Amino acid sequence: MPDPLADREGLNALLAKVYETAREYMAGVDDLPAGGSAGRDEAAAGFGGDLPENGNGSLAAINRLLTDGLEAATNSSGPRFFHFVTGGSTPAAIAADWFVSTIDNNAGLWVSSPLASKIEQVAIGWLKDLLQLPVGWSGVLTTGATMSNFTALGAARQWWGKEHGADIARSGTAGLAPIPVLTGGFVHASVKKALSMLGIGHDTMRILSGDAAGRLDLPALDRELRALNGAPAIVIATAGEVNAGGFDPVAAMAELARRHHAWLHVDGAFGLFARVSPITSQLASGIELADSAIADGHKWLNVPYDCGFAFVRDGRLLNEVFGMGAPYFPATEADHPDFLYLGPEMSRRARSLTVWATLAAYGRSGYREMIERHIALASRLGDQIRASSDFELLEEPRLNVVCFRYHPDAIRDTDLDHVNRRLGEAIIADGRVYFGTTVYAGKVAFRPAISNWRTTERDVDVILAVARELAERIPRPS
Ligand SMILES: *Cc1c(COP(=O)(O)O)cnc(C)c1O
Repeated sequence: MPDPLADREGLNALLAKVYETAREYMAGVDDLPAGGSAGRDEAAAGFGGDLPENGNGSLAAINRLLTDGLEAATNSSGPRFFHFVTGGSTPAAIAADWFVSTIDNNAGLWVSSPLASKIEQVAIGWLKDLLQLPVGWSGVLTTGATMSNFTALGAARQWWGKEHGADIARSGTAGLAPIPVLTGGFVHASVKKALSMLGIGHDTMRILSGDAAGRLDLPALDRELRALNGAPAIVIATAGEVNAGGFDPVAAMAELARRHHAWLHVDGAFGLFARVSPITSQLASGIELADSAIADGHKWLNVPYDCGFAFVRDGRLLNEVFGMGAPYFPATEADHPDFLYLGPEMSRRARSLTVWATLAAYGRSGYREMIERHIALASRLGDQIRASSDFELLEEPRLNVVCFRYHPDAIRDTDLDHVNRRLGEAIIADGRVYFGTTVYAGKVAFRPAISNWRTTERDVDVILAVARELAERIPRPS
């Protein structure tokens, strides 16, 4: 197959094929094993090979994806994929995402896409409303929580520099003292990535934790901030810790930050959504007092990868860090947002359309219902664990993550980590339900997270049954 220009007429057949496969796949995904097929690793490895000198045509390429590709994929969009914190994609979001690829607009500037620019502005407003954040905050869509942490902490770094009379975006940090960054043990690895990308360095961050689970030592935070004598600092709170769904005391941290002249940033990748329901909003109270906060779209909002949001109280700081123009870019007009001036990317996917579509389709009440269903499912699983004699709950479920381990009487305490690790490998290899191990408070544990719109009781109720069946096949340490 030569030049794509000659393939113009081929497009119809390709789209029809993808549509057929997608329709069938999505109709059946509720019953597919979450981890994918037994041959998934080999099927993935089979994609190796050299760049073809002459392509063998779009139909062959797409067919390969729809057959071998599907064989190699996990069914992470299905209802039993509990690994990490994995959202699915709502019907409205998937359909919108197909449209995003169809128009392929660049959401960087109003002139490149009035549609994407306007809808991003609307989507940011709706998200602030849904998550009960102050209307005056600025926001920008990114590829996920990692880039959102990077974006918001970029604004924090700029603020810190200005407090020292420096413009770090312009001149860097040379000659300045290290930037004090204080946090608790819930801090996510992505914050470290952000700090390393920002030149702040992640090893300089002070992790103030009073216990093995990572809970923040609030008096220590007070002492550390006090010791800075009013010098500016950055404090990072986690709202929704990945292992057991814990929350830092954000309101108390906000009070300390205000008193001691610190910027408070909140990583609420999924936990920010606790604010959608009155049942859990208390967990995430005080975030409205922070200077910046972030969340993921591809987790609990259930839009396709990749999507996250960063919110910053003072949007001018985002513009100082990211507002790089070029002679061929037009100047921003007041009523025409140009989001490339507020975030790290220049060219940007029009991902706001999926956010807009899913919020337009289901509204506040639809999201509240879904989130409350997930919270109830987590607590149902917690009840099942509590009622069992062979599993142990390591933390009361607070949101959508359930932290537990296999712990029958017959296994010695010193063997528990080993057995749970083996069980974790068996669960991944089996694939009917999908979740891995972590280490929580020094114990090897499981932490399935419920965040897919498709998940119901039927899916949660197989978790312990599958785990028990696989556990009983693991040879006992002698
Ligand atoms: C998932 C997660 C992140 C990273 O999010 P990505 O979307 O994978 O970049 C950051 N912080 C927390 C608390 C998370 O749960």
